[in-house]
Amino acid sequence: MAGDPRLRSVAPDGPEARLASVRGAVADAARSAGRSVDDLTLVVVTKYHPASLVRELAALGVTDVGENRHQEAQAKAAELADLDLTWHFVGQLQSKKARQVRRYADVVQSLDRDSVVDAFAPTETEPDPRVIDGFVQVNLTDDPGRGGVQPDDVDAMVERVLATGTIRLRGVMAVAPLDEEPRRAFARLRGISSRAVALAPDATDISAGMSGDFAEAIAEGATHLRIGTAITGNRPAAP
Ligand SMILES: *Cc1c(COP(=O)(O)O)cnc(C)c1O
Repeated sequence: MAGDPRLRSVAPDGPEARLASVRGAVADAARSAGRSVDDLTLVVVTKYHPASLVRELAALGVTDVGENRHQEAQAKAAELADLDLTWHFVGQLQSKKARQVRRYADVVQSLDRDSVVDAFAPTETEPDPRVIDGFVQVNLTDDPGRGGVQPDDVDAMVERVLATGTIRLRGVMAVAPLDEEPRRAFARLRGISSRAVALAPDATDISAGMSGDFAEAIAEGATHLRIGTAITGNRPAAP
């Protein structure tokens, strides 16, 4: 019978099957780590994919989505305003764009520069802005050109975020370096997280783990997983 969900066929390589498989793998990793899946937030990174895919994922129970480019994120959030999604901004942010991102994003995971953080502070024209959630992004590589603050600068950045009064600091975020065993890098992030928590007791979250390394991130205490291609399939070329 058409429309009977029990008889609906699920394409083995479509988003529904991939989402189910990732959810299963996340649950397995949580179990191995002695953690509850209820403590994990799955953020599906939908960058470069059309709004229609985000809508499809929302119908499958996805509540949190991640985007890394302002214009694309803004357009999708507007098109999907009827859905009750939580939008995470995970890309490099310019201070000029920060105030615009705050209009649609609920969470900014890429706070990594003084100028960006300061852009969220109240101004004369916007004395009482929307409060958003934020993560300080940490650079776990030796390359200062990569996104994120150096581990030694995390404390100062945490203080700066707290000083804005308009960012609810949730914790730290990082991408594993390409040339290091991810679990080792995430263990380092865990240590950095506990330093941040010493300054900001509510900032206990750790955003770590992508398609290729979420099990390692879960083992090292990640609370937010940012998973793209394992769920969406390969990304189209940058629009
Ligand atoms: C694209 C992206 C992801 C998702 O990466 P996948 O390998 O596709 O899972 C996660 N975090 C950030 C910051 C990204 O830009």
